[in-house]
Amino acid sequence: MITFEEALDIVLKKSYLFDKELVSLLESTGRILAEDVYSDINMPPFNRSAVDGFACRREDLGMDLEVIETVRAGIFPAKKVSRGQCTRIMTGAPVPEGADCVMMVEDTTEAVPGMIRFTGIKTKTNISPFAEDIREGDCVLKAGTIIAPQHIAIMAAVGYVKPKVSQRPVVAVISTGDEIVEPHLKPGISQIRNSNGYQLTAQALSAGVEANYLGIAPDNEEDTFSWINTALEKADIVLLTGGVSMGDFDFVPKIFEKAGIDILFRTIALQPGKPTIFGIKGNKRIFGLPGNPVSSFTIFEILVKPLLLKMMGVANPVRNLHLPIGTNYHRKRSDRMQWIPVEIREGKAYPLEYHGSAHIFSLATAHAIAAIPLHITELKAGDIIDVRPV
Ligand code: AMP
Ligand code: MG
Repeated sequence: MITFEEALDIVLKKSYLFDKELVSLLESTGRILAEDVYSDINMPPFNRSAVDGFACRREDLGMDLEVIETVRAGIFPAKKVSRGQCTRIMTGAPVPEGADCVMMVEDTTEAVPGMIRFTGIKTKTNISPFAEDIREGDCVLKAGTIIAPQHIAIMAAVGYVKPKVSQRPVVAVISTGDEIVEPHLKPGISQIRNSNGYQLTAQALSAGVEANYLGIAPDNEEDTFSWINTALEKADIVLLTGGVSMGDFDFVPKIFEKAGIDILFRTIALQPGKPTIFGIKGNKRIFGLPGNPVSSFTIFEILVKPLLLKMMGVANPVRNLHLPIGTNYHRKRSDRMQWIPVEIREGKAYPLEYHGSAHIFSLATAHAIAAIPLHITELKAGDIIDVRPV
């Protein structure tokens, strides 16, 4: 049995980069940027007032100042501020020549009509200087960035309106099991609703790829074989759940081989998720995931998602936080690395009530999953663990 780190290494080594495409600014949300972005402007483009007030010379703050002009955002000042003068100015407007500070309107009074007096004790400069944030030609975003709303703002600000992003891998999800019924049906005795297939499809969508849920394949070899072949035709990455745990009806590994899939591993020293199969066929990647929904959830997050992100060009597809565990933790066996649902409070990870890999409700309030390393049975409160937000 291989370790989780070995499994991850095998999976990531089998990634390849997807082609690029141009999309509109808003369509790029959640996509992976495929090139560096450079600024075509200086920001701020001029010395910009940070407040509403009066622009003047700091050395004149002690005297009554004549208002020579009013400048609002979008207007360029026509007059230079000299000794004994000020310009009424609005937030975002260019500061006139000659002025080196802007007194806030709250710190002023109109001494006589047209004359302003500073009533504060001291004032900040309240000017955002030319090009303080970004200079023309600076790199503002790196290829491999997962585009979030704050990146949209940056692209908009530098006029990068046709983002070049990675194309999305297509994922197909197949559930298996004679006992599995679709969620709109009330399960009969000994039946289970298909939570897994939908969860995995949603996980893939959240990871920013195209994902299609195909349905439930019955527990027989011919059907499973033909479902797998259909999925391989339609998708770049196939996720199949159930049928991998070596029960009498768990023939998925055999079907993989029959379908010409080269199996690279079939078990990992992990809990949950020990029976996880990974195979390749040409440029297709196939995972056989355990049927229990907490297992498949975990394996997707720690193994499948990093592959999908890497295929789209994300430079660092594995992102753990390193946080202290909030309580002492004990487990009996340590022959597998374990991932458990945790809640994060005051910077610490607290294990949640967790009954095992069918207990989907343990994930309802989980902020993250956390790793208990191989060969470790005891953790003390405060020990640092790997935590993966979910
Ligand atoms: P298997 O790997 O097929 O032996 O399934 C392991 C366990 O997961 C069994 O208890 C199954 O009933 C359950 N299971 C399998 N597929 C699903 C699914 N799509 N949704 C929820 N539970 C499932
Ligand atoms: Mg099954």
